[in-house]
Amino acid sequence: MEAVESGACVSKRMPRLDFFAVLLGTRWRIFSDHRLPKGDGGSCDYKRKWVRVHPSLSPQKRFEMLHHECLHGAYEHLDEHWVEQFALDFSEVVYRPDVLQFLGLQRIPDSQQRAQS
Ligand SMILES: [Zn+2]
Repeated sequence: MEAVESGACVSKRMPRLDFFAVLLGTRWRIFSDHRLPKGDGGSCDYKRKWVRVHPSLSPQKRFEMLHHECLHGAYEHLDEHWVEQFALDFSEVVYRPDVLQFLGLQRIPDSQQRAQS
């Protein structure tokens, strides 16, 4: 889990996410949730099949946390350290301007991202 960035506040401008996706054959609801306990950047609830990410995280941390929690959702018994390290490493591989451009995605600076929401 990642700590929610200090100074983050809950507002209508936080980015929202809510959709369903299949992870290794099981349907999960994936959504942003500002009600996550302070200090939790994300959560994976196996009973409800929910993956939640705190919207106050930076875009790169949201990417990392989404990846982290989806890994947990895909396979419950993965080692926490492995999940944490791989999600961090993979976010650093993908969240680079050259890679995002290669993938046809655009990196949005935090300040613009918050203003657009
Ligand atoms: Zn974890």
